[in-house]
Amino acid sequence: VRFAPSPTGPLHLGGVRTALYNYLLARQTGGNFILRIEDTDQNRYVPGAEEYIIEALKWAGISPDEGVGFGDGPHAPYRQSERKHLYKTFADKLLENGWAYLAFDSAEELDAMRDRLSAQGIPNPQYNYVTRQYMKNSLSLPKEEVAARLERGEPHVLRFKMPRNEEVKFHDEIRGWVVFNTSQLDDKVLFKSDGMPTYHLANVADDYMMKITHVIRGEEWLSSAPLHVLLYRALGIEEVMPKFAHLSLILKPEGNGKLSKRDGDRLGFPVFPLTWKDPATGEVSIGYRERGFLPAAFINFLALLGWNPGGDKEIMEKQELTELFSLEKVHKAGARFDYEKAKWFNQQHLKTQTDEWLADRLREQAGGHWLSADKTYAAAVIGLVKERAVFLQDLNSLSLYFFEEVQVYDEEGIMKKWTAAVREKLQGLPAALREQQAATAAEFEQLVGGYAAAAGLKTGEFMPVLRLALAGSLQGPPVYPMMEVLGKDRCAARLEAAFPIFNKKTGI
Ligand code: GLU
Repeated sequence: VRFAPSPTGPLHLGGVRTALYNYLLARQTGGNFILRIEDTDQNRYVPGAEEYIIEALKWAGISPDEGVGFGDGPHAPYRQSERKHLYKTFADKLLENGWAYLAFDSAEELDAMRDRLSAQGIPNPQYNYVTRQYMKNSLSLPKEEVAARLERGEPHVLRFKMPRNEEVKFHDEIRGWVVFNTSQLDDKVLFKSDGMPTYHLANVADDYMMKITHVIRGEEWLSSAPLHVLLYRALGIEEVMPKFAHLSLILKPEGNGKLSKRDGDRLGFPVFPLTWKDPATGEVSIGYRERGFLPAAFINFLALLGWNPGGDKEIMEKQELTELFSLEKVHKAGARFDYEKAKWFNQQHLKTQTDEWLADRLREQAGGHWLSADKTYAAAVIGLVKERAVFLQDLNSLSLYFFEEVQVYDEEGIMKKWTAAVREKLQGLPAALREQQAATAAEFEQLVGGYAAAAGLKTGEFMPVLRLALAGSLQGPPVYPMMEVLGKDRCAARLEAAFPIFNKKTGI
């Protein structure tokens, strides 16, 4: 299989999903996965796009076996611009056997043809079996004139001679039988005057040369498939034609129409795997990686956008996705994108990672105190707060008070919970903490719980106050495990620091 993007911009979620399905099928069947860069259209080339595609695939763990950026294998080279010399024989063959012809029309002449037909009320003017008769090509011009034009070196293209009124039928692995009538199709340019093949010819020739067995791509290419099928026929290589699988669109959250960058901007979620800076406008679009998604969660939700192995299980690692994947179970209908669900996947994957692994990621990505902290300590902190984290960076904001003293206390909480009675009864707690031994959560429970009970305080009275003093907030992990991680001296010190502040705030 191959993933064959054109370097015209960043990869969209749909593109990454196409790459992922190719990858899963190759891994499952012991096949080979190629990354081919389709850069025949120099006008649409965007600097940085190719590097972006490679980096995105690497980050998501969708690694091709061979291809640009992933090392050479038997099918190198992988950029179509570096394969130029290979396409000419395919073009020559089509010209020889009458499936293609030369056309000399200038841009102005093509425009004039379209204007003329539009004026006659033809909605979609095409260069086809009717119009070709009136244009300047090797089918309409006398042989000598064609020879003379070639002699003069006149610019020309090679066009496919689309047959008139024939049915092209092929089997799509996802859609079943697909039928097109050739009278709706035009005489596509196969070879341009600049000596480069167009997408269609290069794509089919490369799939053939690279021995591709399954073409898995987006549904926007479905309308090109009949031409491709005919090209296999015309080139006499129909028996090795790959199977086709055209993937349905990823739809807007509202369910109608293709998910676009504008939807992401409008609703505040990324549509690209990595952050992309548009080289022309300088506009920056944030990526899933930068938003804090784990690659495992990213490919998990992407795989399930339009495919379902059956059953209720949703959280799966790459290995499991690989085992279960099948093209037959890919949905024909488009998949509605749901960012909240994507976040849920990330939360679930975060939770299943070990605390040590997460600590390593934070060291790499957040740096700061995660680098200087003792690793066992960092892991213990993560273990306490990870339940509530959706993104990796949430672990940072949720755990600040484990690395620095509390700077801000929740005022509303103080006003509600710091009463004269509580003040009175908790006064001796810091000293009790300093004097007695407690290290584990259970020991803290015994010490603090015992102290409070003896003082006649209910859980709902003293627990929130401890939380406020230790963490600054009424939310957070359970208090006794938190005390275990902070250690008794730090806990005592925090209570001593907080109580006077609480007094001042409440005027008690
Ligand atoms: N170059 C095409 C693209 O950008 C490839 C389509 C295909 O896979 O055949 O998506």
